[in-house]
Amino acid sequence: MKGDCLCGAVNYEVDGEIGDAVRCYCRSCQQVTGSAFASVALTTADKFRITSGQESIASFESSPGKHRHFCSGCGSAVYTKTEADPDVIRIRLGGIEDPVGVNFKHHIFVTEKVDWYEITDDLPQFDAWPTML
Ligand SMILES: [Zn+2]
Ligand SMILES: [Zn+2]
Repeated sequence: MKGDCLCGAVNYEVDGEIGDAVRCYCRSCQQVTGSAFASVALTTADKFRITSGQESIASFESSPGKHRHFCSGCGSAVYTKTEADPDVIRIRLGGIEDPVGVNFKHHIFVTEKVDWYEITDDLPQFDAWPTML
């Protein structure tokens, strides 16, 4: 699967199927996306490649050890990574061009959810990342 940022500088590829996905309602994701939640899927570092624009990627440590990587030209969120789990890449699904066919499994950080968005499905809700992820 291929993805890119809004200005086109950053292009990346993900091998194989994307793993389980979550919607994250934390305050940082609200600020980064300008919306109610971030749609996030997990993959591993060996399946994720920046194919162009590595030099355009900037990062911000939004909480201790958690780095949000984004395009410095257009601000598109690309992925996040934590120092505790350096092999896990948390991709922001909006950048992927291809049909993803992903299954959303959970809602996370729901205690921080905005009051103007309502969760209307029956997926499990967590106050953090569930340990199985
Ligand atoms: Zn860009
Ligand atoms: Zn979040």
